[in-house]
Amino acid sequence: MPDNRRFTLVRRPQGMPVASDFHLKTVPTRALAPGEILIRNAYASLDPAIRGWLDDAPSYMPPVAIGDAVRATTVGTVAESANADFAVGDWVLGLNAIEDYSIASPGGFTQKIDPAVVPSVTNYLSVFGAVGLTAYFGLLETGRPVAGETVLVTGAAGAVGSLVGQIARIQGCRVIGIAGGAAKCARLTERYGFDGAIDYRGKDEAALVAAMQALAPEGFDVIFENVGGIILDAGLMNLRDGARVALCGLISEYNVPAPVGARNLWQLIVHSARIEGLLVRDFVPRFGEGAAVMAGWLAAGKLQFDEDIVEGIDNAFPTFMKLFSGGNDGKLILRI
Ligand code: NAP
Repeated sequence: MPDNRRFTLVRRPQGMPVASDFHLKTVPTRALAPGEILIRNAYASLDPAIRGWLDDAPSYMPPVAIGDAVRATTVGTVAESANADFAVGDWVLGLNAIEDYSIASPGGFTQKIDPAVVPSVTNYLSVFGAVGLTAYFGLLETGRPVAGETVLVTGAAGAVGSLVGQIARIQGCRVIGIAGGAAKCARLTERYGFDGAIDYRGKDEAALVAAMQALAPEGFDVIFENVGGIILDAGLMNLRDGARVALCGLISEYNVPAPVGARNLWQLIVHSARIEGLLVRDFVPRFGEGAAVMAGWLAAGKLQFDEDIVEGIDNAFPTFMKLFSGGNDGKLILRI
């Protein structure tokens, strides 16, 4: 049995995670039971959602157990198989963990992938993975933009946000994005084609409200919310009548024990507006449909996407933390 380096959780983070909450442990892999496969993980997707899985709080899936490897979506190859449908060498995508080897029972989210049909197998963790399909279905099904409308995207330079902005542009909308720092704001307009960008760093809620009003005096028909906190509160002060707020994430609150935000919900009443949470998992049966449309846009040169790939499971902790400092440029992926 090969040795397995596992990025394990040793203590639940209190607020911002620290390195000592985790431990890289080496253990032997176990023998396979009938039907199982052993996956040699090549890449792990480092997602903000992982932070939520480290807390023992009610969620859409159970928390990572203390002593267990940190859950993550991975792509890798079958190293051993006790399943007639999976041969050694097949590429698979699945919800596994940050570790060299994962054992999975195929079915559900574990599925074969074809590296020949994408420029890079990592694309299954970015534009053709949950991230890309969150942007696609979250915007189109929850935000429901209509040509000519104005869309605000928060966390706009990130993996989800950058795609949301471009998809909104493809729908014929005017798109404003919020990101941290001048370089990311320049990328919004120059690379992703946003109509305007706001650097939220150093701005309080009043300054954010003013910056939004300057770029969208009539307000927003759709807000695609990735951040929460004062950024969401400022957006709520700039709604148009009948606006839709697609609540995708609240990353500014993931490491804050007592978050303060969404104090301006009364604006939903003022504008007969709607706020709705979205979970990409709900769209799994339609992933093929969304990926096909995204593939068409990519082939037509209408979509740009970026991957930030960091080498080595030894770097799992500092790499994960880039999500919360804004250190990632595009979809954050760890090469195991
Ligand atoms: P990402 O945007 O590529 O990376 C995270 C970015 O969040 C950072 O680069 C940083 O960008 C920004 N950020 C971090 N802390 C912040 C803070 N305190 N205030 C403002 N911005 C902050 O990550 P992603 O994978 O695309 O995820 C984006 C959001 O979508 C997250 O909220 C995530 O939970 C959510 N999501 C939801 C679903 C779903 O099914 N609902 C699925 C996937 C992702 P700046 O440099 O601009 O600050």
